[in-house]
Amino acid sequence: MIKLHDLFFEKYISEAEINQAINGVVVRLNVEYKDKNPVFLIVLNGAFFFASDLIKRFDGDCEMSFIKVASYDGLSSSGEITTVMGADPVLKGRSVIIIEDIVDSGNTFETIIEILEQEGVAEYKIATLFYKPKAYKKNFPIDYIGLEIENDFIVGYGLDYNGLGRNLREVYKLKPSRMKNLVLFGPPGAGKGTQADVLKEKYNLLHISTGDVFRYNIKNETELGSLAKSFMDQGDLVPDQVTIDMLKAEVEKNPEANGFIFDGFPRTESQAKALDDFLAEKGASINGMIAIEVPENLLVERLLKRGETSGRADDQDESKIRNRFNEYETKTAILKNYYAEQNKYYGVDGVGSIEEITSRLCEVIDTL
Ligand code: AMP
Repeated sequence: MIKLHDLFFEKYISEAEINQAINGVVVRLNVEYKDKNPVFLIVLNGAFFFASDLIKRFDGDCEMSFIKVASYDGLSSSGEITTVMGADPVLKGRSVIIIEDIVDSGNTFETIIEILEQEGVAEYKIATLFYKPKAYKKNFPIDYIGLEIENDFIVGYGLDYNGLGRNLREVYKLKPSRMKNLVLFGPPGAGKGTQADVLKEKYNLLHISTGDVFRYNIKNETELGSLAKSFMDQGDLVPDQVTIDMLKAEVEKNPEANGFIFDGFPRTESQAKALDDFLAEKGASINGMIAIEVPENLLVERLLKRGETSGRADDQDESKIRNRFNEYETKTAILKNYYAEQNKYYGVDGVGSIEEITSRLCEVIDTL
């Protein structure tokens, strides 16, 4: 296992496997392009090892050219192409073989292929050492593939994580984190906060309640607080981007955590997706979404009672409470499907004593 910056990576593909994959590509290129004097268009930076080992084994005449297209920011493909270093020699009328280290979303091709078409090449082919079929979003055929791999973030043999790892002779993948992450779900008043307090102690997890963080910010009159207040007072959801950025900042404050109980987040599908992507960058994921199920009338009663002592404006007025249920039903309940599709949804009966409900929750958590 190795550490690059803040993350751990484990061995994934050996030198011998890499060599075999390159040979597979070279054998075909030697048959199909030996007499065509192709131009190998090497996509910098990651493809330089692959290009070097591949082209050394090519038997015919050939030329080389280099192009630089950047779309990676940290671990995830941002989809935005930021830099391009032009190709040389003249490509007009030539057979061009694009040499890539890895194809995942395929976003960088669009720019490269546009350039090749403008240059008036005779034909182009794409050769890549690694290919992630599950991440690929484009329709360009990938003509030569060394190895198909899963959707893991990899480093080594030319590929980097924020600049480091290119010199490794073998390929490593991001080590899955041992974090346990739970989404505690349920309508307002279901008892999420109460249960989270017990569960965080038992499982040594950090509890993040987005509602609490917003209330803290409102109380301390921060910029975030003033942004959130008008939405919260009406029982409306705070806009996604504000909430997502806030949540990420809370997680980042605790890099050593064993895991998190997310309470009140995600509340929309786009928040759920953002959370999945964000955790994936850390080699982590949501282990389960546990919904505390309570009938609505019982909830209204509980919330009005809480409003007598909590001082929360959104707890004191039945119409605001009903609006929060409405928000929950129309936006949030969609999440049940989102997690059910990943086999991560667990419904737990939320009627009973606090201890009874805790033990039902623990029964589920212990299996995750
Ligand atoms: P809660 O304490 O979880 O009932 O949240 C109280 C209020 O905070 C909600 O009615 C929203 O206005 C806001 N809020 C909390 N979490 C979120 C979220 N994930 N997305 C948008 N708004 C939120």
